[in-house]
Amino acid sequence: MNFMKLKDLVLNVLFPKICFGCGNGDCYLCEKCFRKFSLVDHQICPVCDRINDGEILCSRNGCRKMFCFDKLIVCLNYEKESLLSKLIVNFKYNFIEELHFCLGEILITQMNSQFGHYEGEKTLITFVPLHKKKFKERGFNQSELLAKYAAEKTGLKIFDCLDRPEFRRDQVSLSQKERLINLVDSIKVKKDFEELIQYKNIILIDDVATTCSTLNECSKALKKSGANKVYCIVLARGSFSDSIKEI
Ligand SMILES: [Zn+2]
Ligand SMILES: [Zn+2]
Repeated sequence: MNFMKLKDLVLNVLFPKICFGCGNGDCYLCEKCFRKFSLVDHQICPVCDRINDGEILCSRNGCRKMFCFDKLIVCLNYEKESLLSKLIVNFKYNFIEELHFCLGEILITQMNSQFGHYEGEKTLITFVPLHKKKFKERGFNQSELLAKYAAEKTGLKIFDCLDRPEFRRDQVSLSQKERLINLVDSIKVKKDFEELIQYKNIILIDDVATTCSTLNECSKALKKSGANKVYCIVLARGSFSDSIKEI
């Protein structure tokens, strides 16, 4: 028996394939429970928390200077012990890879409603990279799976263009300020992609944002290589005390 089959078998015993919402059916999220999600209508400035549906972070109090990305799009409001939290925790920490289909569907629904249409020539998708050590532990990069799903559904090109060459301390145990310092210059654009991303608008995908420090480092690297706009999209925004975390 190969490893993947064994993994599926173990997962089926530990987490039988029934809907995480209602316990029925033979999938992790049934159509009925999927429809119960209501997407965030009005996006909030990640710095000052005021509603800001425009393209860039709001200009009040210097919010715009805080981050290198141009917009943060959140799909769903995060609540502890909610169905969304169950799905994300099982995706990331119980390694149920298949959950990327339903979480990807949430992501793509919000992307389509926020962007309306995509300029295929000018726009591309990328994702927050995982350090090799983390990748080995989890067996997949959750953001990459979501990004691949989004690329498939939109027809946009996906570039695996970001690299996390060094392993920095795990963010989870750090304060907000320490997280920002810990990550500085930890993410780079891979050499082969430097020219390709010039003047492009980039949709940067991650599963969850807390401080936005990882998204910011990715955006900084992309802009340094000449990207035009960077739009970040995440399933949910969590706080420090939540069970969902960046990375
Ligand atoms: Zn259900
Ligand atoms: Zn603001």
